[in-house]
Amino acid sequence: MHFLSEVLETYIQEHSEAEPKLLQELTRETHLKVVRPRMITGHFQGRVLSILSKLINPKYILEIGTYTGYSALCLAEGLRKTGMLHTIDINPELTDMQRRYFDQSGFGEQIVQHLGDALEIIPRLEQVFDLVFIDAEKLSYDAYFEAVLQRTTSGSIILSDNVLWSGKVVTPLDPKDKVTQILLNYNRKLKEDPRVETVLLPIRDGLTLCRVR
Ligand code: SAH
Ligand code: CA
Repeated sequence: MHFLSEVLETYIQEHSEAEPKLLQELTRETHLKVVRPRMITGHFQGRVLSILSKLINPKYILEIGTYTGYSALCLAEGLRKTGMLHTIDINPELTDMQRRYFDQSGFGEQIVQHLGDALEIIPRLEQVFDLVFIDAEKLSYDAYFEAVLQRTTSGSIILSDNVLWSGKVVTPLDPKDKVTQILLNYNRKLKEDPRVETVLLPIRDGLTLCRVR
């Protein structure tokens, strides 16, 4: 879904950092070999994630929803030299491809893959995360948020992706559309939750940035 005209999107992309070559290859291979390639983070949003991570310069990053590893590699660009990124995905068919790209990127030793349901894995992690990217099953966003909040500290940043859900959050609700209803509740909760400061950024499909108080 394009919220801006295509010509504006092109202009914006052309006046932002170029997409690294490895990520171009990852995108190509994802489209060739993996189902639902629309889920991959694109050039512009990837550069946004990269620069946000560089501004935060985190020691520990947590990603929920690795897919083929695109967003993980963008976020890893901001890691401290001694930092680690933990990324979780439930789909075992993606693990080898993720690892191939992680190892080519130079961040291979700083990325830990976890295979399984994020809601089971997050409580077992011991780190305090400076930066979290929530991008897995939309119906579980609230549960992910509550679980990761326990693993953050004051000043930590929690990003939630696809919160505008192709604009469905502002169109009349189809009563059968559970995901939109869940995201409406989630967006309202983040705005009202006194534990975080929230801005919803109109980046791609909507990216909410919460700062833990
Ligand atoms: N962050 C990726 C895209 C993630 S797509 C990128 O920007 O490139 C969503 C991913 O969440 C899928 O790969 C899917 O397998 C994973 N997923 C879905 N349910 C999950 C769960 N319960 N726990 C962990 N991962 C899950
Ligand atoms: Ca996404």
